[in-house]
Amino acid sequence: MTEPINTAEMILSALPDDLALIDYDGLIRDGARGGKLTLMPRLDGDGTRILDYLPESQHEPFLEALRSARDTNEPASVELIVERGRVHIEARLVPQSEDLAVAIVRDITERRKTEARMHELAYVDSVTGLPNRALFLRELRRSMAVADRNGTMFALLNVDLDRFKRINDSLGHSVGDALLKSVAQRMERCLRPSDFVASAAAPANVAPNANNRIARLGGDEFIILLNGVNVRDVVETVAYRIREALLTPFHYQGRQFVVTPSIGVVIYPQDGADVDTLLMRADTAMYKAKSAGRNTLRFYDVDMDASALERLWLEEDLRRAISAGEFELYYQPKVSLRTGQINGAEALLRWQHPEHGFISPAKFIPVAEETGLIFDLGQWVVRRACQQLRQWQDDGLEFGPLSVNVSAEQFERVDVAEQILRAVWENGIVPQKLVVEITENLLMQDGADVHARLRALRAAGISLAMDDFGTGFSSLSYLQKFPLDALKIDRSFVMDLHHDEKRAAICAAIIAMASKLGLRVVAEGIEEEAQRAFLAEAGCDQGQGYLFSRPIPADEFEALVRSQPLVSAAPQATS
Ligand code: C2E
Ligand code: MG
Ligand code: MG
Repeated sequence: MTEPINTAEMILSALPDDLALIDYDGLIRDGARGGKLTLMPRLDGDGTRILDYLPESQHEPFLEALRSARDTNEPASVELIVERGRVHIEARLVPQSEDLAVAIVRDITERRKTEARMHELAYVDSVTGLPNRALFLRELRRSMAVADRNGTMFALLNVDLDRFKRINDSLGHSVGDALLKSVAQRMERCLRPSDFVASAAAPANVAPNANNRIARLGGDEFIILLNGVNVRDVVETVAYRIREALLTPFHYQGRQFVVTPSIGVVIYPQDGADVDTLLMRADTAMYKAKSAGRNTLRFYDVDMDASALERLWLEEDLRRAISAGEFELYYQPKVSLRTGQINGAEALLRWQHPEHGFISPAKFIPVAEETGLIFDLGQWVVRRACQQLRQWQDDGLEFGPLSVNVSAEQFERVDVAEQILRAVWENGIVPQKLVVEITENLLMQDGADVHARLRALRAAGISLAMDDFGTGFSSLSYLQKFPLDALKIDRSFVMDLHHDEKRAAICAAIIAMASKLGLRVVAEGIEEEAQRAFLAEAGCDQGQGYLFSRPIPADEFEALVRSQPLVSAAPQATS
């Protein structure tokens, strides 16, 4: 008589599950505890309810499944979380009669853990811990569906770190990875709703939203999904916060770096109805931000597609043009603001395209920088400038040193100084005849390498000038730290200096500060006599601009120098 019961119990005790015969109110009629699960210690049909073993929050899902099993007369399953989230169980409810069902309760914690780990492997970026591309695409599709349903919109921000490649290449991937991780952490903080409330920059109509997401798409490319009542405002606020957050330098192995973001933005649904279009256009807008001088933000607009195409053919054409010899150097004189004499010049690259005519360096230099073509192009510029200097020297033309522009990217090369010096030596000119113009973004990468390369140039007798001063970070500490000789005040400050008191004050302050630091000051873009007069009065040494001459071909420049003094030049110095 006891035999069959023992057999059943033996079998039951070998199962990993708890089994209970219950009614549709969850009252336990009979039961057996399985081998592993100790969820229900007293499954002895003493009138306890299954609900007694479940946390309150799980009652309704359980009862719902139970009702469904009864109403459909089909097994129903429900997953429940018990023991304060530590244990996941699955309850399978199999109807047996009009009033009874069998509940099979199984511990699935391990399975869930394994799934979570697999999810992590498949969907989490191992460097930053952020969602990866695959997970992001899934969430993007979900967000699109929600936006469609509710008639709402959201924004995607494609965030690319400017010149990250340089850090990665010169300092190694482990530093690069550490940097990406810190950047990710800082950016994540910019999205936290609680921080939004605290931020003065956040307009009142920006609804903090817990659904904002950030992911790493690969390389130094991040993407942010922003929901909000007024999406454009949210985007601007977040972009502002990201820029601010990245301004504080990162420190690794005794070095410090600043990384800046270029951000391209698309809005769903207005900028694209599918994932591919959205991402492509976010990319286009990001490139627009980069060519607008980096560290900035651009919203996508339809005209950009044309310029993305243009960029593509530019890149192909540039490769061809270097070997086809379509480039030429023009020369723009620099003039002493005291005497009005030409006492220097800047070599500026010109591209005469066989089909498209003249193409501005402002357009093709950024493309050359991004694609690495700047290495060949830059080398050509320096060689050509040195050859020209040599020729003028042989012709007995005297006018002071010649400046060449060298992009920050060119300083990635270990042998940048060597290449420049070789061009000088090969042409038999003195290094003092050459000035290298660099921009602030080079100095922001406070790498020992860049420093060493600049010092090598300076030690050999080449002067260094900081170009476009005032448009970047304009950090005074950089000026002090690097071996500079001259500072060029950016054209944008000179432009309306005679109409705008603030600009005038900035110019005067830059000049005063530079002279205290022992730097020569050159003003760019002088077009009017009033600007020249103000700058001369403020103590600016040298000027460059259409007032004196546009950039011109070598032979015209030669004629100009020979015809000195300039007609439109400054009044004769009285001192
Ligand atoms: P930059 O080095 O700041 O050169 C000065 C720019 O201002 C030149 O533009 C020049 O033509 C323009 N400019 C000079 N005076 C005036 C003026 O009075 N009014 C106005 N409106 N503009 C004036 P450009 O030649 O178009 O060159 C643009 C930029 O392209 C340069 O800015 C420089 O950053 C870059 N670039 C030019 N040549 C080279 C090169 O050989 N190598 C590299 N890496 N960059 C170059
Ligand atoms: Mg320049
Ligand atoms: Mg400039």
